[in-house]
Amino acid sequence: MRPFDFAQVNTVHDAIGHTGDGSAYLAGGTTLVDLMKLEVLTPSHVLDINRLLLRDVRLDGRGLHIGALARMSAVATDRRVVTEYPVLARALLASASGQLRNMASIGGNLLQRTRCGYFRDITTPCNKRQPGSGCSALHGENRTHAVLGTSDQCVATHASDLAVALVALDAVVELAGRTGQRSVPLADFYREPGTTPQVENDLRPGELITGVIVPRTAG
Ligand SMILES: Cc1cc2nc3c(=O)[nH]c(=O)nc-3n(C[C@H](O)[C@H](O)[C@H](O)COP(=O)(O)OP(=O)(O)OC[C@H]3O[C@@H](n4cnc5c(N)ncnc54)[C@H](O)[C@@H]3O)c2cc1C
Repeated sequence: MRPFDFAQVNTVHDAIGHTGDGSAYLAGGTTLVDLMKLEVLTPSHVLDINRLLLRDVRLDGRGLHIGALARMSAVATDRRVVTEYPVLARALLASASGQLRNMASIGGNLLQRTRCGYFRDITTPCNKRQPGSGCSALHGENRTHAVLGTSDQCVATHASDLAVALVALDAVVELAGRTGQRSVPLADFYREPGTTPQVENDLRPGELITGVIVPRTAG
Protein backbone atom coordinates (compact mmCIF):
# COMPACT_ATOMS: atom_id res chain seq x y z
CA MET A 1 0.00 0.00 0.00
CA ARG A 2 1.26 3.51 -0.81
CA PRO A 3 1.68 6.02 2.05
CA PHE A 4 -1.20 8.46 2.59
CA ASP A 5 -2.35 11.20 4.98
CA PHE A 6 -5.34 10.47 7.17
CA ALA A 7 -7.87 12.83 8.76
CA GLN A 8 -11.27 12.59 10.44
CA VAL A 9 -14.01 15.14 9.95
CA ASN A 10 -17.09 15.94 12.04
CA THR A 11 -19.36 17.77 9.63
CA VAL A 12 -20.43 17.52 6.01
CA HIS A 13 -19.13 21.05 5.49
CA ASP A 14 -15.66 20.07 6.76
CA ALA A 15 -15.65 16.91 4.67
CA ILE A 16 -16.34 18.79 1.45
CA GLY A 17 -13.84 21.52 2.36
CA HIS A 18 -11.05 19.01 3.03
CA THR A 19 -11.09 17.27 -0.32
CA GLY A 20 -8.73 17.96 -3.17
CA ASP A 21 -6.87 16.09 -5.89
CA GLY A 22 -5.98 12.60 -4.73
CA SER A 23 -8.45 12.55 -1.82
CA ALA A 24 -10.78 9.68 -0.98
CA TYR A 25 -13.60 9.48 1.55
CA LEU A 26 -13.44 6.47 3.89
CA ALA A 27 -16.71 4.97 5.11
CA GLY A 28 -16.63 1.24 5.96
CA GLY A 29 -13.45 0.78 3.95
CA THR A 30 -14.49 -2.61 2.55
CA THR A 31 -13.89 -1.46 -1.02
CA LEU A 32 -11.45 1.39 -0.55
CA VAL A 33 -8.92 -0.36 1.70
CA ASP A 34 -9.04 -3.53 -0.43
CA LEU A 35 -8.20 -1.53 -3.54
CA MET A 36 -5.52 0.50 -1.75
CA LYS A 37 -3.79 -2.70 -0.69
CA LEU A 38 -3.82 -3.85 -4.32
CA GLU A 39 -2.60 -0.37 -5.40
CA VAL A 40 -5.55 -0.09 -7.76
CA LEU A 41 -6.47 3.07 -5.84
CA THR A 42 -3.65 5.23 -4.51
CA PRO A 43 -5.16 8.25 -2.73
CA SER A 44 -2.65 10.57 -1.10
CA HIS A 45 -5.24 11.78 1.42
CA VAL A 46 -7.88 9.61 3.12
CA LEU A 47 -10.73 11.38 4.88
CA ASP A 48 -12.67 9.36 7.46
CA ILE A 49 -16.34 10.43 7.29
CA ASN A 50 -17.69 8.02 9.90
CA ARG A 51 -18.33 10.78 12.47
CA LEU A 52 -20.81 12.54 10.20
CA LEU A 53 -24.42 12.30 11.40
CA LEU A 54 -25.61 10.42 8.33
CA ARG A 55 -26.73 7.08 9.78
CA ASP A 56 -30.46 7.70 10.21
CA VAL A 57 -33.16 5.67 8.53
CA ARG A 58 -36.55 7.39 8.63
CA LEU A 59 -39.89 7.25 6.88
CA ASP A 60 -42.05 10.28 6.14
CA GLY A 61 -44.64 11.41 3.59
CA ARG A 62 -42.00 11.62 0.87
CA GLY A 63 -40.66 8.14 1.42
CA LEU A 64 -37.77 6.31 3.03
CA HIS A 65 -34.66 8.37 3.84
CA ILE A 66 -31.46 6.37 4.30
CA GLY A 67 -28.34 8.15 5.53
CA ALA A 68 -25.21 7.48 3.49
CA LEU A 69 -23.38 6.07 6.52
CA ALA A 70 -26.16 3.70 7.61
CA ARG A 71 -24.69 0.23 7.59
CA MET A 72 -26.05 -2.36 5.17
CA SER A 73 -26.96 -4.70 8.04
CA ALA A 74 -28.85 -1.96 9.92
CA VAL A 75 -30.91 -1.07 6.84
CA ALA A 76 -31.56 -4.72 5.94
CA THR A 77 -33.05 -5.40 9.38
CA ASP A 78 -34.88 -2.10 9.86
CA ARG A 79 -38.55 -2.94 10.55
CA ARG A 80 -39.86 -0.25 8.15
CA VAL A 81 -37.57 -1.46 5.37
CA VAL A 82 -38.51 -5.10 5.89
CA THR A 83 -42.26 -4.40 5.85
CA GLU A 84 -42.56 -1.54 3.33
CA TYR A 85 -39.52 -2.04 1.07
CA PRO A 86 -38.83 -5.79 1.23
CA VAL A 87 -36.92 -5.75 -2.05
CA LEU A 88 -34.29 -3.52 -0.41
CA ALA A 89 -33.92 -5.86 2.55
CA ARG A 90 -33.61 -8.85 0.21
CA ALA A 91 -31.07 -7.13 -2.04
CA LEU A 92 -28.96 -6.18 0.98
CA LEU A 93 -29.10 -9.64 2.53
CA ALA A 94 -28.10 -11.16 -0.84
CA SER A 95 -24.92 -9.05 -0.74
CA ALA A 96 -21.49 -9.99 0.60
CA SER A 97 -21.40 -11.54 4.12
CA GLY A 98 -22.69 -10.64 7.58
CA GLN A 99 -19.33 -9.25 8.64
CA LEU A 100 -19.03 -7.09 5.53
CA ARG A 101 -22.61 -5.83 5.84
CA ASN A 102 -21.87 -4.73 9.41
CA MET A 103 -19.02 -2.51 8.16
CA ALA A 104 -20.25 -1.45 4.75
CA SER A 105 -22.26 1.74 4.31
CA ILE A 106 -25.04 2.57 1.86
CA GLY A 107 -23.06 5.39 0.22
CA GLY A 108 -20.01 3.16 -0.14
CA ASN A 109 -22.14 0.39 -1.58
CA LEU A 110 -23.38 2.65 -4.36
CA LEU A 111 -19.80 3.72 -5.15
CA GLN A 112 -18.13 0.34 -4.87
CA ARG A 113 -15.95 -0.55 -7.85
CA THR A 114 -16.37 -3.42 -10.23
CA ARG A 115 -15.18 -6.85 -9.16
CA CYS A 116 -13.71 -7.54 -12.64
CA GLY A 117 -10.48 -9.43 -11.95
CA TYR A 118 -8.54 -7.39 -14.50
CA PHE A 119 -9.54 -4.09 -12.87
CA ARG A 120 -8.12 -5.46 -9.63
CA ASP A 121 -4.89 -6.79 -11.17
CA ILE A 122 -2.53 -3.89 -11.86
CA THR A 123 -0.32 -6.11 -14.05
CA THR A 124 -3.03 -6.36 -16.75
CA PRO A 125 -4.49 -3.74 -19.13
CA CYS A 126 -7.81 -2.23 -18.01
CA ASN A 127 -9.39 0.87 -19.52
CA LYS A 128 -11.35 1.55 -16.34
CA ARG A 129 -8.22 1.56 -14.16
CA GLN A 130 -5.82 3.01 -16.74
CA PRO A 131 -7.64 4.73 -19.62
CA GLY A 132 -6.34 3.73 -23.05
CA SER A 133 -4.54 0.58 -21.85
CA GLY A 134 -7.11 -1.85 -23.31
CA CYS A 135 -9.69 -4.26 -21.93
CA SER A 136 -8.35 -7.66 -20.92
CA ALA A 137 -11.85 -8.98 -20.23
CA LEU A 138 -13.07 -8.58 -23.83
CA HIS A 139 -11.18 -11.71 -24.87
CA GLY A 140 -10.34 -12.99 -21.41
CA GLU A 141 -12.21 -14.35 -18.41
CA ASN A 142 -15.59 -12.68 -18.79
CA ARG A 143 -18.29 -15.25 -18.03
CA THR A 144 -19.88 -13.09 -15.31
CA HIS A 145 -19.47 -9.81 -17.13
CA ALA A 146 -22.10 -7.52 -18.66
CA VAL A 147 -24.20 -8.42 -21.68
CA LEU A 148 -26.15 -5.15 -21.96
CA GLY A 149 -24.76 -1.62 -21.89
CA THR A 150 -21.21 -2.68 -22.74
CA SER A 151 -18.76 -1.03 -25.13
CA ASP A 152 -15.64 -2.14 -26.99
CA GLN A 153 -13.66 -0.55 -24.15
CA CYS A 154 -15.24 -2.25 -21.11
CA VAL A 155 -17.60 -5.11 -20.27
CA ALA A 156 -17.42 -4.90 -16.48
CA THR A 157 -20.57 -4.87 -14.36
CA HIS A 158 -21.34 -2.63 -11.42
CA ALA A 159 -21.47 -5.03 -8.50
CA SER A 160 -24.07 -3.38 -6.25
CA ASP A 161 -27.16 -5.52 -5.63
CA LEU A 162 -28.68 -2.64 -3.72
CA ALA A 163 -28.36 -0.22 -6.65
CA VAL A 164 -30.49 -2.47 -8.85
CA ALA A 165 -33.31 -2.52 -6.28
CA LEU A 166 -33.03 1.24 -5.71
CA VAL A 167 -33.22 2.00 -9.44
CA ALA A 168 -36.33 -0.19 -9.69
CA LEU A 169 -37.91 1.85 -6.88
CA ASP A 170 -37.06 5.22 -8.53
CA ALA A 171 -34.71 6.19 -5.70
CA VAL A 172 -32.91 9.52 -5.68
CA VAL A 173 -29.36 10.05 -4.43
CA GLU A 174 -28.69 13.15 -2.32
CA LEU A 175 -25.35 14.88 -2.91
CA ALA A 176 -23.49 17.71 -1.18
CA GLY A 177 -20.60 19.55 -2.78
CA ARG A 178 -18.82 22.88 -2.86
CA THR A 179 -21.53 24.41 -5.04
CA GLY A 180 -24.37 23.21 -2.79
CA GLN A 181 -26.72 20.27 -2.59
CA ARG A 182 -28.45 18.43 -5.38
CA SER A 183 -30.59 15.35 -5.94
CA VAL A 184 -30.08 12.95 -8.84
CA PRO A 185 -32.35 10.01 -9.75
CA LEU A 186 -30.19 6.93 -9.30
CA ALA A 187 -31.21 5.78 -12.79
CA ASP A 188 -29.42 8.87 -14.18
CA PHE A 189 -26.49 8.71 -11.74
CA TYR A 190 -24.63 5.77 -13.27
CA ARG A 191 -22.89 6.00 -16.66
CA GLU A 192 -22.49 3.28 -19.24
CA PRO A 193 -18.81 2.69 -20.12
CA GLY A 194 -18.86 4.01 -23.70
CA THR A 195 -15.46 5.48 -24.54
CA THR A 196 -14.80 6.62 -20.95
CA PRO A 197 -15.20 3.54 -18.73
CA GLN A 198 -13.18 5.28 -15.99
CA VAL A 199 -16.13 7.67 -15.49
CA GLU A 200 -18.66 5.53 -13.66
CA ASN A 201 -21.15 8.04 -12.33
CA ASP A 202 -22.27 11.65 -12.18
CA LEU A 203 -20.39 12.47 -8.94
CA ARG A 204 -18.42 15.73 -9.14
CA PRO A 205 -14.93 16.10 -7.60
CA GLY A 206 -15.20 16.25 -3.80
CA GLU A 207 -18.93 15.60 -3.78
CA LEU A 208 -20.30 13.53 -0.92
CA ILE A 209 -23.31 11.23 -0.98
CA THR A 210 -25.36 12.26 2.06
CA GLY A 211 -28.25 9.85 1.58
CA VAL A 212 -30.81 8.15 -0.59
CA ILE A 213 -34.55 8.80 -0.77
CA VAL A 214 -36.84 6.00 -1.87
CA PRO A 215 -40.35 7.19 -2.81
CA ARG A 216 -43.33 5.66 -1.02
CA THR A 217 -44.44 2.42 -2.60
CA ALA A 218 -48.00 1.92 -3.85
CA GLY A 219 -48.76 -0.80 -1.28
C1 LIG B 1 -15.66 -10.15 -0.35
C2 LIG B 1 -16.67 -9.10 -0.77
C3 LIG B 1 -17.88 -9.52 -1.30
C4 LIG B 1 -18.84 -8.57 -1.68
N1 LIG B 1 -20.04 -8.99 -2.21
C5 LIG B 1 -20.98 -8.07 -2.55
C6 LIG B 1 -22.25 -8.47 -3.06
O1 LIG B 1 -22.54 -9.66 -3.21
N2 LIG B 1 -23.13 -7.49 -3.39
C7 LIG B 1 -22.86 -6.15 -3.23
O2 LIG B 1 -23.70 -5.31 -3.53
N3 LIG B 1 -21.66 -5.76 -2.76
C8 LIG B 1 -20.73 -6.67 -2.41
N4 LIG B 1 -19.52 -6.27 -1.93
C9 LIG B 1 -19.20 -4.85 -1.90
C10 LIG B 1 -19.58 -4.19 -0.59
O3 LIG B 1 -20.99 -4.10 -0.50
C11 LIG B 1 -18.93 -2.82 -0.63
O4 LIG B 1 -17.53 -3.03 -0.46
C12 LIG B 1 -19.42 -1.89 0.45
O5 LIG B 1 -20.81 -1.68 0.36
C13 LIG B 1 -18.71 -0.56 0.36
O6 LIG B 1 -19.13 0.24 1.44
P1 LIG B 1 -18.04 0.90 2.41
O7 LIG B 1 -18.78 1.74 3.38
O8 LIG B 1 -17.13 -0.13 2.99
O9 LIG B 1 -17.28 1.80 1.35
P2 LIG B 1 -15.76 2.31 1.32
O10 LIG B 1 -14.87 1.18 0.99
O11 LIG B 1 -15.45 3.10 2.53
O12 LIG B 1 -15.87 3.32 0.09
C14 LIG B 1 -16.11 2.84 -1.22
C15 LIG B 1 -15.94 4.00 -2.20
O13 LIG B 1 -16.98 4.95 -2.01
C16 LIG B 1 -16.44 6.22 -1.60
N5 LIG B 1 -17.38 6.70 -0.59
C17 LIG B 1 -17.83 6.02 0.50
N6 LIG B 1 -18.82 6.69 1.10
C18 LIG B 1 -19.00 7.83 0.38
C19 LIG B 1 -19.91 8.93 0.48
N7 LIG B 1 -20.84 9.01 1.45
N8 LIG B 1 -19.83 9.92 -0.44
C20 LIG B 1 -18.90 9.87 -1.43
N9 LIG B 1 -18.02 8.85 -1.58
C21 LIG B 1 -18.08 7.84 -0.69
C22 LIG B 1 -15.04 5.93 -1.11
O14 LIG B 1 -14.18 7.03 -1.26
C23 LIG B 1 -14.64 4.76 -1.99
O15 LIG B 1 -14.23 5.23 -3.24
C24 LIG B 1 -18.56 -7.19 -1.51
C25 LIG B 1 -17.35 -6.78 -0.95
C26 LIG B 1 -16.39 -7.72 -0.58
C27 LIG B 1 -15.10 -7.25 0.02
